Amino acid sequence: MPKIIMPKNKTGNSKFLKMYNEAVILDMIRLHGALSKSELSRITGLSPTAAGMIASGLLEKGYLQERGEGESSGGRKPVLLELAPRSYYSVGVDMDVGCIRAVLMDITGALVCELTRPMPDPPLFEEAEAIVRDMVAGVLDEHSVAKDRLLGIGISVPGIVDMETGRIVLAPNLGWENVNFGICMGQPPGIPVFVENEAMSSAICENWVGSCKGINNFVCINIKSGVGSGIFADGRLYRGAGGSAGEVGHIAVDENGPRCGCGNYGCLETLVSSSRIVEKARKLAKQGASPGLSALQDIGEIDLDMLVKASKEGDEAAKAILIESARYLGIAVSYIVNTLNPSKVVIGKDFTRYADVVIDYLRSIVYCKALKTHASKVEIVSSPIGDRASALGAAIIPLKALFGK
Ligand SMILES: [Zn+2]
Repeated sequence: MPKIIMPKNKTGNSKFLKMYNEAVILDMIRLHGALSKSELSRITGLSPTAAGMIASGLLEKGYLQERGEGESSGGRKPVLLELAPRSYYSVGVDMDVGCIRAVLMDITGALVCELTRPMPDPPLFEEAEAIVRDMVAGVLDEHSVAKDRLLGIGISVPGIVDMETGRIVLAPNLGWENVNFGICMGQPPGIPVFVENEAMSSAICENWVGSCKGINNFVCINIKSGVGSGIFADGRLYRGAGGSAGEVGHIAVDENGPRCGCGNYGCLETLVSSSRIVEKARKLAKQGASPGLSALQDIGEIDLDMLVKASKEGDEAAKAILIESARYLGIAVSYIVNTLNPSKVVIGKDFTRYADVVIDYLRSIVYCKALKTHASKVEIVSSPIGDRASALGAAIIPLKALFGK
């Protein structure tokens, strides 16, 4: 339950209490599915009259809808209430090197529609911002979402963000520093805009609709142009003192490794990011060392999917690149497992494209290197959501307030 801070005056008090109770009722229905008014009273501890009145108010405002009849305990069969699909919405945008993705989500957490556009190259902030504005209008227009049915817009970026102001402090892979989406994005006017780190957005998504529902301690690692993580500790997103916890891409896994943008050598990101993996594949192809890749017409156009395809078709040299990256990732995950003792580690984004090739090997590295007590309690999985996780997580941020989170 969220922490309650009571306003001092009486009017504020009752308004706040009403909003709080509405959020509690909505959240119970989100977690348990369709419930009757008497079940809501029992679960929330509200009196039957209060629970009934609040539920009726939510029904009137369109957040809830009636669904069939529940089990009777003797008398008339009760009507069940559930979240009304396509009633209220939020928009999530994920900005990454190469791609901008916008999704429209409804209050049930369902994906309603999705748009993708290329990120400008180079990724000039003003240009990217104009594209985002256009995409947000696009998803809203496609489903004729009225302004009063839009709860907010979440934007995920691969970098350090200041949640209070919406300022992007630093997004090194996009070359952005001290730019502000929160203020510039105020379209439509009056709609709240939230900016969040992309890996934290993915962790929010996994916790709300993905593979970590009801799990209090987990780490979500994203591998794409960079490597980052979102950490849930004791049921909450852990941000750290400066708000940017989870920079696992800068765990040094090979002190003789390549120089990283951060100034150190052999950071995880320099060894397992998708751009580094593709670079290795192109080099291998040029050397004629991979039958599958060397035979391709334009070696400079080799991408991650081509590498994965070659390795699945039995090209051992191509597979060795993925296995090597899994070894470095496994070392980093073993440090994370020892330090945070999570019950689950979910690896997402580009990793999901080749997870089936390497995940057993990755698990074996973690089980070998991490403390046995910790390793025996952790489940390591590929994200079931993949590329969309950050965009969906960004869309969930405005929804969370409605459910009192
Ligand atoms: Zn680094």
